[in-house]
Amino acid sequence: MSQTLKAVRGTRDLLPPETALWNRIEATARSVFARYNFGEIRTPVFEDTSLFARGVGEETDIVSKEMYTWEDRARAQSEKTQTLTLRPENTAGVVRAYIEHGLGESGQLQKLYYIGPQFRRERPQKGRYRQFSQIGAEVIGPPSAGSESPLRDAEVLEMLATLLDELGITGWTLHLNSVGSAADRARYNDTLRAALAPVVGQMCVDCQRRAETNPLRVLDCKVPADQPIIDTLPVIADSLDEASKAHFAAVTAALDAASVPYTRNHRLVRGLDYYTRTTFEFTHGGLGAQNALLGGGRYDGLSEMIGGPKAPGIGFAMGEDRLVLTLLAQETALAQKADAFIAPLGEEMNAAALNLARELRHQGLWVELGEGSFRLKKSFEAADKTARQIVILGEDELKSGILTVKNFSTGIQTKVPRAELAVFLSN
Ligand code: AMP
Repeated sequence: MSQTLKAVRGTRDLLPPETALWNRIEATARSVFARYNFGEIRTPVFEDTSLFARGVGEETDIVSKEMYTWEDRARAQSEKTQTLTLRPENTAGVVRAYIEHGLGESGQLQKLYYIGPQFRRERPQKGRYRQFSQIGAEVIGPPSAGSESPLRDAEVLEMLATLLDELGITGWTLHLNSVGSAADRARYNDTLRAALAPVVGQMCVDCQRRAETNPLRVLDCKVPADQPIIDTLPVIADSLDEASKAHFAAVTAALDAASVPYTRNHRLVRGLDYYTRTTFEFTHGGLGAQNALLGGGRYDGLSEMIGGPKAPGIGFAMGEDRLVLTLLAQETALAQKADAFIAPLGEEMNAAALNLARELRHQGLWVELGEGSFRLKKSFEAADKTARQIVILGEDELKSGILTVKNFSTGIQTKVPRAELAVFLSN
């Protein structure tokens, strides 16, 4: 017997009714983005590997261990063999598109959002998958368009607070930090290297390697035994120059003015190399070990790193899978039911029932259509599972134009004229 095929480890099928929640999340995100004047961008799912090597950083876990990369062999003389990668994140792709299409030439800020799958070869666990979906946005443009302004950072953070509120996600925490300019970070890396020298021997092997290559990454370490050592290390806030400090102060002042709560987290340096100045993460207690709902920050040098003009920007990516998990744990997110179930009494009523369902659906109702060969008891059982109300359609009802409606939550049965049915059912 041949072996049954299953979805690949770290990937999964999304099925109804959960997909309704995914759609609701995406619709809410699109509605919020539109009100903040963002437009949608759709970039390819795979890109030239060097985009991520240069844009995300060779030393990051994503690039060094987690990318799905392959040799794409030339099929014609005119083609070159290329090394391609399934995108592990979308910021590099958006910035590549910004450069390729000369979007900065308009002199305007570009406000772009995306929704789509990303791929990382991580160890799968709850909230962490090898194919996952991100909802993200970027604000990018020439400095003359105001792209470096701390107001942009604050607006993006305020938009995220609004989006989470509109999604119905309560109890989130905004962690905020500044990783300064490239020069600030170089200074801090030296400070860290010196502080790590006497203690790094007691730390995990990853930290020992990071202490050499990129000491900043030590702050990401999750090994419990290393935490007391990390807590004694100098903080990046003390290595920021005056301009970076002023930028951060302006971001927090604008957040205070808008009453968006945040906590300063000195260890928030993020796993991607392109960040400058503001970095942030929204966490949620209900998620367990993988508690980050979203992360982001400013990336003032990214465009130049991948060969483009100066184009400072700020953006974020939300883990859509984790938004779903949070909502599933938090509320009766899937408890939604159809407005009505139409139960034809006998097969000869099936055609009339289809017509009634059509009428109601055209008036915007969510309707499930039953089956006339079912006994009434079976129709009631099916209706109770899928809808809030049942509408019975027999010969008498069809002739008189008066239908019987039963509401399952109140148990009340009502006679309703057909012309008033849609209004009655939608209440
Ligand atoms: P990052 O691109 O690493 O900054 O991640 C941004 C957000 O994407 C995180 O806060 C998570 O919510 C989500 N995310 C990242 N990696 C995964 C993954 N492997 N599975 C599910 N969600 C993820």
